[in-house]
Amino acid sequence: MKIRTKRKDRKFWAGISPWIIIGALVILVPIFIAMTLANINKQKEYTTQLLVEKGAALIRSFEAGARTGLGMQWSSFQLQKLLIETAQQPDIDHLIVTDTYGTILADSDPSMIGETYGKDLDLKHIASSKQVEWRQVPNPGGADTFEIFRRFSPTGDSFQGFQAEEKTAKGSKGFIIFVGMDMGPVNTAREQDTRHTIWMAVVFLLIGCSGVISLFLAQGYRSAKTSLSRVKAFSDSLVENMPMGLVAINGKGDIISFNQTAESILGCMSRDVMDKKADDVLPRPCVALLQSLKTEKKLLEKEVDCPVKDGNMVPLEVIATILEEEDGAFLGYVILFRDITEIQHLKKEITRSQRLAYLGNLAAGIAHEIRNPLSSIKGFATYFKERYRDNPEDEKTAEIMIQEVERLNRVISQLLEFARPMDISKQPTSIHTVIRHTLKMIEAQARSKGITLRTELSPDVGDILIDPDKMTQVFLNLYLNAIEAMERGGDLSVSLSPQGERMIRIDICDTGRGLDREELAHIFDPYFTTKPTGTGLGLAIVHKIVEAHQGEIRADSVKGKGTTLSVFLPANSPSVI
Ligand code: ADP
Ligand code: MG
Repeated sequence: MKIRTKRKDRKFWAGISPWIIIGALVILVPIFIAMTLANINKQKEYTTQLLVEKGAALIRSFEAGARTGLGMQWSSFQLQKLLIETAQQPDIDHLIVTDTYGTILADSDPSMIGETYGKDLDLKHIASSKQVEWRQVPNPGGADTFEIFRRFSPTGDSFQGFQAEEKTAKGSKGFIIFVGMDMGPVNTAREQDTRHTIWMAVVFLLIGCSGVISLFLAQGYRSAKTSLSRVKAFSDSLVENMPMGLVAINGKGDIISFNQTAESILGCMSRDVMDKKADDVLPRPCVALLQSLKTEKKLLEKEVDCPVKDGNMVPLEVIATILEEEDGAFLGYVILFRDITEIQHLKKEITRSQRLAYLGNLAAGIAHEIRNPLSSIKGFATYFKERYRDNPEDEKTAEIMIQEVERLNRVISQLLEFARPMDISKQPTSIHTVIRHTLKMIEAQARSKGITLRTELSPDVGDILIDPDKMTQVFLNLYLNAIEAMERGGDLSVSLSPQGERMIRIDICDTGRGLDREELAHIFDPYFTTKPTGTGLGLAIVHKIVEAHQGEIRADSVKGKGTTLSVFLPANSPSVI
């Protein structure tokens, strides 16, 4: 018997279906992409806001600087100076102040003064609102410039310093300041942030995927465990309830499984034998079988007589085999067995019937051949008896001859009755009446031998379909055998009881000399007798009658203690038929 074991080279992840990975990716990837994009946008907004605030703060401080210088008769020259100084800060590209016509009034690059700037913007609208605005201006020399602009009003309404300037266009109302900031460092920071965000997204995606996969794995493991325990429960109950005894023994020779049938056949409880050495617990023949398995290493099948707990011998059909792993490694033994008492009984019955059929045919032929000369011999003997009437000695010899011939005739009649096909006519009969009637017939004989008659007839048994004359013959034969077995008195008990739903049982039990195993095996054979004057046909005829009633007869005996003959008959109640 091979046992399939787990392959050792199997990787744990081999159980992950690619569909789980694809499913997890399909769900998680869009979520993470959307989250990353939102994150990047937020960062962009944040840096923009930061730049705008920075620019606004610069403008405010610039305005404040201009305001303080007002009292000291500020001119565009001073403003220009302030612009140049401020623009020296590392991340400031340019600082420009224009009027609403876009004419540059002051510039961090003084060469630009008088040029126009910001013509593409609605400068008048900007000058009229307090709103800080921004735009991104491409810079051919490097990174884009982030430009913040708004109305420039150090005094609130106008800036007197500029009115003196000749280049100021007429009718211009208000000024606009542009702060250009270098986006290079910002872009680098943004790129770093974006890279970092993407990395984080990838890491979280991997964690999310492995989380989902481990969830599936855990679920798979759980369901595999559940189905495994279900399979185990099924196989356990299969082993426990199988109609054969099963004993499993491990490599060390300890019993590791002992099912219910094994308990009932061997008569010991599983809890008493589990984990014990098989050699100490199992019956000798089973142990011997295990020994031969060790040398022969194959499946062994044998019929053995096993002594069981109560001391009885039970015929068992035993199958023993070695348990091996797939790679041939030795695991232990399994012994399967069943009680074949019933099968053996049936086998014996069949052989007996066959033997009887041959014997019956032979006997009928011989009986017929003997009967003819017997009548001639009897005729001659009668003639000689008449003829030697005067010679008493010869007359007696002739008389003996006649008697012997008659005895022979009786034997042959019995033989013929036995050999002839049984002819029975069943009718509804009270089995109670038949038993009582037959007991009455032998009552006197039993009393004369000091035998006590006992009866225990169950009222649950009603009328049954039998041939009353033939059954009378059966009971008389059984009573007479019992009486003959109790030469020095004893008890003869007759009991009647239902046997299951479809049979009735009559036990005729005596306390006579009993029979040994060998005798018991032959008592139903014709001509088997232990009595000097017996014919050995009584029980053979009884057997035949009972069989003709679709019944059964069994004998059980203990030498020196007594014998019980049990007759089983179908309880076909007449009303059913
Ligand atoms: P017979 O009575 O002519 O010997 P039977 O067929 O009736 O033939 O019985 C066969 C044999 O079975 C008997 O000789 C006897 O040895 C044995 N036998 C039958 N019934 C009993 C019994 N109740 N107790 C002991 N032995 C019995
Ligand atoms: Mg007899």
